[in-house]
Amino acid sequence: MVKDKVVLITGASSGIGEAAAKLLAAKGAKVVLGARRESQLKQIVTDIEKAGGQAAYQVLDVTKPSDNERIVQFAKDTFGRVDVIFLNAGLMPNSPVSALKTDDWNRMVDVNIKGVLNGVAAVMPTFLEQKSGQIIATSSVAGIKAYPGCAVYGGTKWFVRNFMEVLRMESASANSNIRTATLYPAAINTELLDSITDSAVQEQMQGLYKTYGISPDRVAKVVAFAIDLPEDTTVNEFTVGPVNQP
Ligand code: NDP
Repeated sequence: MVKDKVVLITGASSGIGEAAAKLLAAKGAKVVLGARRESQLKQIVTDIEKAGGQAAYQVLDVTKPSDNERIVQFAKDTFGRVDVIFLNAGLMPNSPVSALKTDDWNRMVDVNIKGVLNGVAAVMPTFLEQKSGQIIATSSVAGIKAYPGCAVYGGTKWFVRNFMEVLRMESASANSNIRTATLYPAAINTELLDSITDSAVQEQMQGLYKTYGISPDRVAKVVAFAIDLPEDTTVNEFTVGPVNQP
């Protein structure tokens, strides 16, 4: 059940994370939002509270282990426990390898890979102590299939896929009652394309998203579904995207 669960969401200041926070709060979850942009987080918490929901936020840079530990402790101090962590923070500055945008490569590794590892490391002791918990992570369709321009982004999302599957296997073998779920979104209209620094790629992606993109609310419904399942049931992988995107 979503109701009364404490759900910590990274990358909650816009897009999929914001949509998930709002939907889960509307369904009775207590949501803790983390991201770097405080003004956005503050506004989203206000919106949730105005709608009758319960929410709190903390500024979080997922690349910093101490920030991740701090927000897990904050969730426990504020709402008593953590039932679900939604590891969703990410960026997608795509470009061809030959452009050698090494700064972008490093940012993606830091946020999309290390950010997930930092989140898991921060929450796992709590889940092991509680003998229950759920870890949901946002990969991408680029984590399943190779696309030109996505060599590094896709690589970070393949990492998420592998990591989450191994985590699922190990958690099951250990009877830890830790559920995992991985999302593979296709074109979802969010601020994600703003992170692209290559103007040709930016233009091409804008065209694709203009043609196919759907609202992040759709992904939020999938997140809510994964949480809502009975505690003895896990859904491991969801591909979610526009019905007519090839
Ligand atoms: P947005 O750009 O709207 O959201 C990205 C979120 O990540 C923001 O809240 C941003 O917050 C946060 N973020 C970025 N860097 C950091 C950081 N260092 N520490 C904490 N938070 C950070 O895009 P989406 O909602 O689309 O992206 C959410 C996830 O979905 C990403 O992992 C993305 O790769 C994935 N995805 C999206 C698809 C799409 O088509 N939109 C398709 C496939 C996957 P802030 O800047 O405030 O820190």
